[in-house]
Amino acid sequence: PFDVLVVGGGPAGASAAIYTARKGIRTGIIAERFGGQIMDTMSIENFISVKSTEGPKLAASLEEHVKDYDIDVMNLQRAKRLEKKDLIEIELENGAVLKSKAVILSTGARWRNVGVPGEAEFKNKGVAYCPHCDGPLFAGKKVAVIGGGNSGIEAAIDLAGIVEHVTVLEFNPELKADSVLQDRLYSLPNVTVLMNVQTKEITGTDKVNGITYVERDTEEEKHIELAGVFVQIGLVPNTDWLGETVERTRMGEIVVDNRGATNIPGLFAAGDCTNTPYKQIIISMGSGANAALGAFDYLIRN
Ligand code: FAD
Repeated sequence: PFDVLVVGGGPAGASAAIYTARKGIRTGIIAERFGGQIMDTMSIENFISVKSTEGPKLAASLEEHVKDYDIDVMNLQRAKRLEKKDLIEIELENGAVLKSKAVILSTGARWRNVGVPGEAEFKNKGVAYCPHCDGPLFAGKKVAVIGGGNSGIEAAIDLAGIVEHVTVLEFNPELKADSVLQDRLYSLPNVTVLMNVQTKEITGTDKVNGITYVERDTEEEKHIELAGVFVQIGLVPNTDWLGETVERTRMGEIVVDNRGATNIPGLFAAGDCTNTPYKQIIISMGSGANAALGAFDYLIRN
């Protein structure tokens, strides 16, 4: 059996595996796609100490760093079941069952898509999901935010301080965000809020140049010119496969304590799949290291 099995090969998992391997304990890492979300990211400018890089480049150096250690990397393998017996068992999609004294879950999350024409086509070419990451790319330009929940309104307030103008598009007749956020939003001079509207298409040529939406009560179609669209309709953790035994929030995020421990002894979690409030590369790496040290501490006591 493994001492530590890491499920997920993004920034959190890579960091966790390197930290446990450096303790000289037997470490394995299972990844459906090594690199995780950064494989879909073009420019990264907030990975501190690296002024600017690209996702696939950062993923390649993560992999190089992991391979520098005696870590059993099982790439292109998907975990489908977890069971705590004497050891923790992880069953893979291919039927193999791996056993480990401790497991660190780092399966990340995915942004919910609006699923309109132009969204996939213009990803990284004006369509963005993370205001902390991509907000500055739109300095002085006009953008839209799709989604009027807390994350959408937080994004709109954040972006309003950087860009020329923000249009918020909400499908329902009212915003769902907390009223303090709404008050703050409505106090800003460069924000327009459109409610009861359905996004129809994100338009562009080589990059985004506008958005088309339908007013749901009049069925009138309208177009606005802008340079960027932030989709903020939810971040879904990749935790459905865990079943009922691992404690999760209403949103599906794994609940962890300050050592990355879950409700199951020997089971730890890190990164975007957990209830950490902010989802970023640097934060995921820190939490991977933290969970690895938590798991090591668990192993020397059990
Ligand atoms: P992930 O990166 O999501 O990795 C999860 C890993 O788990 C992957 O290897 C995946 O294949 C694997 N996995 C999932 N389910 C299973 C399973 N059942 N079995 C086996 N493996 C599984 N952050 C920044 O700090 N700066 C940026 O500029 C930035 N830009 C971004 C741009 C885009 C388009 C996106 C989508 C995100 C961006 N982020 C950015 C966010 C950042 O990428 C994430 O916070 C970070 O990747 C989270 O790391 P993670 O390891 O927790 O999860």
